[in-house]
Amino acid sequence: MRQTHITINQSALARNLGVFKRQLSTNTRIMAMVKANAYGHGVPLCVAGLLQADAFGVATFDEGLEVRHTCQHLNTHKDVVLIEGVFSADEWLGAIKHGFGCVVHCNKQLDWAIKNTPPTDSFSNTIWLKYNTGMNRLGFDQANALKSAKILINAGYRIVLTSHFACADDKNHPSNAMQIKHFHDTLSALKSQYGNKIQGSLCNSAGIMNFAHAHYDWVRAGIGLYGGTPMTDKSASELGLQTVMTFSSQIFATHHLCAGEQVGYGGLWVADKPSRIGVLAVGYGDGYPRVVVGAKVLIIKNQQTYFVPVVGRVAMDMMMIDITGLPIDIGDTVILWGDGLACDEVAAWANTIGYELFCKTTKRPNRRFVL
Ligand SMILES: *Cc1c(COP(=O)(O)O)cnc(C)c1O
Repeated sequence: MRQTHITINQSALARNLGVFKRQLSTNTRIMAMVKANAYGHGVPLCVAGLLQADAFGVATFDEGLEVRHTCQHLNTHKDVVLIEGVFSADEWLGAIKHGFGCVVHCNKQLDWAIKNTPPTDSFSNTIWLKYNTGMNRLGFDQANALKSAKILINAGYRIVLTSHFACADDKNHPSNAMQIKHFHDTLSALKSQYGNKIQGSLCNSAGIMNFAHAHYDWVRAGIGLYGGTPMTDKSASELGLQTVMTFSSQIFATHHLCAGEQVGYGGLWVADKPSRIGVLAVGYGDGYPRVVVGAKVLIIKNQQTYFVPVVGRVAMDMMMIDITGLPIDIGDTVILWGDGLACDEVAAWANTIGYELFCKTTKRPNRRFVL
């Protein structure tokens, strides 16, 4: 069998969740974001490692159902929140049926919520009212947020006022303080009117770590759970986060090249001296980025650690590395990212962020978990 694997470390997930929980006061709850198939890691593999979360956050109704079914297999129940809300009146009825919590970010969703109200003891009876504090992506402005809140409260709902940072990865970016102020002011106004029917939720991973004074009632942790850094200036390991995903493959062919011979599509790399090339059974069809500059892979053999350069174009099913002069051979395991080589580093070589590389891993690598 082709030895290309994605291995998910479930106890690292649980420990990363613990890193966030230790930063929260006792009355702040944490939503584990498992949208986009748990950031590409696989919902069934990840939910089991995240059962100490208070709820799960997803982007679509189908993702919500998958989380629900996974929890049922694990003989447990967890609340699920649809962070973009529903996309049709029918979907709203489905959300009530399954007890999903829903964002309401626009008048259409508000209408659906007013026309059909869930039972008061349902998790759907709490609306995650999206307030645009400055990202200008989703949500009501202040006046309409206050107006919508009044309509929802009168219809018997409770509310979590919800907003999202545009620049939380950069702690000192001026928009953070501005967004926190807008959020604080509007939440205070609502609380003074409606008391404990109003809660707040603002922070993602970076927000939790950077803005302890802005945790409010619910935080929403994503990338940090998966051992990716949410910051521009600190690595995941500096933040005490552990690697969850190991993406690995194997050398299955080697070649000796003379100086001047080329490697791969387009002859992109040419040997400047007699060289030895290893061929890996992995490529962009598995989710390794096609375009990388200065990329390396990690090989650990006989207690020695080698960072080996990627050479030539990454192909769909294969990629090549320069093993000239190294005691490395067919059958050796190669780590594309994992412990010792963070996905965030590979992302930098690919001019993107770890979030995207995680999400772009495909179905082809064999996914498995370790405890
Ligand atoms: C994805 C998402 C999060 C989690 O963000 P991270 O940076 O991965 O922690 C939080 N809130 C909302 C609304 C999101 O869409």
